[in-house]
Amino acid sequence: MPKKRPSTNMKSTKTNPPVWRREDGRSSKRAYNRSLVCAALFHEGPRSRVGLKQSTGLPLSRLSDICGSLITEGVVRESMISPAAGTGRGRPRSLLELDLRRLGVACVRYDQESVTTALVDLAGTVHWKRRWNAPGTEDATTRLRMIAKHLKQTLTVAHEVGVKLVGVGAADPGTVDVSTGRSIRAVNMPGWTNVPVVEHLSQSTELAAVIERADGWQALGEVAYGAGRGSQHVLFVTLLEGIGGGIVEGGNLLAGRDGSAGEIGHTRVSMDGPLCGCGGRGCLEAHLAPSRLAALWRGVAPTDLDNIVPRGEEAGDDFAQMLVAARANDSRAREVLANAAKALAVALGNATSLLNPERIILGGRFVAAGDSLLGLLREELPKYALPELVANVDIRLAELGEDSAFLGIAARVRSNLFAYPSMGGTVEHRPSAKSTAKKGKSP
Ligand SMILES: [Zn+2]
Repeated sequence: MPKKRPSTNMKSTKTNPPVWRREDGRSSKRAYNRSLVCAALFHEGPRSRVGLKQSTGLPLSRLSDICGSLITEGVVRESMISPAAGTGRGRPRSLLELDLRRLGVACVRYDQESVTTALVDLAGTVHWKRRWNAPGTEDATTRLRMIAKHLKQTLTVAHEVGVKLVGVGAADPGTVDVSTGRSIRAVNMPGWTNVPVVEHLSQSTELAAVIERADGWQALGEVAYGAGRGSQHVLFVTLLEGIGGGIVEGGNLLAGRDGSAGEIGHTRVSMDGPLCGCGGRGCLEAHLAPSRLAALWRGVAPTDLDNIVPRGEEAGDDFAQMLVAARANDSRAREVLANAAKALAVALGNATSLLNPERIILGGRFVAAGDSLLGLLREELPKYALPELVANVDIRLAELGEDSAFLGIAARVRSNLFAYPSMGGTVEHRPSAKSTAKKGKSP
């Protein structure tokens, strides 16, 4: 039987989102009410105290007390809104809103060659980012120590810029088990097997920690802050030397049994295509590896593609030159790109029939390929999916670049932090339908 997963993936040895829980970690009626006020402000937008009374059902006296302490702690800010000009009546009103710019997450992304840490606030601004080389680090303990050391610097920067940290997250290059907070395996990182990343992050930073595949974080980041804003059903696909992806449904990342759903790079688009790094033949990733596309452009026969080993980051220059040639109407480059678009259309067509997405977001090197690839893809895609499903699919290029994974971490921490609270596991207090209908407007 497949394991059952919780709908949210916040896993930590520490379970205290630090904004509203009591210092001793125990929940209380007051903690519940603080959580309720934060959730209402997050989901319904800025509110006056009277508006919050309608949203939460709490009396004004209690709201004043709770809002006062949230303002003091820097979680909520208050602004005065003048009466409409020319009306000559009314008094200035005060509006309360979450101060997302003052709450942030410490992030880390790592691969076989480097460790990158970043400080991102919950409004989506990357305040600070730094990459360290980490070549040949084959021992997981050594790498974990390196990650902890670099995260400490992020914590220092957060303190300096006045951002209160409310979580820490890791973008893993391999497969992860979010239920145990472990990285299971990353094919290009020897020794990185079954690593308790979340436990380690949590202990070294004393923050609640989360982990996800880097591609999954990118998908979440684009939906929360980038090309997927406003969409509920999104398929994200990214091309580096390989192809990864993530599926977002209703704001949550589709996990699958092992947290690996979205590996569209290894879906087959031909029965006897080029050999893939996974050992199979005809995977989308084998057809679209930039070093292989560049080799085809330079005259390598399709039957010889097995001899071209996808080369990692340095393949980018060759691929970029091929794109320049395609834009300059080089017939060979355009033919290679057209065949790549066809392979991509087969995979996305299958995915469209399976998932019924409203938006497909293409990231990584797809962004560099830009309109020349998008145009071809839009022509090809209808051939490979049910017409009614493909008709209104909105295909866009990603907007956030390499920061998308960090923003995905911010998005997850934000939605975990500001979820409507439940007390005793059975009682849920949600705003009435009437107040929900006013979403985004201040009363
Ligand atoms: Zn494969």
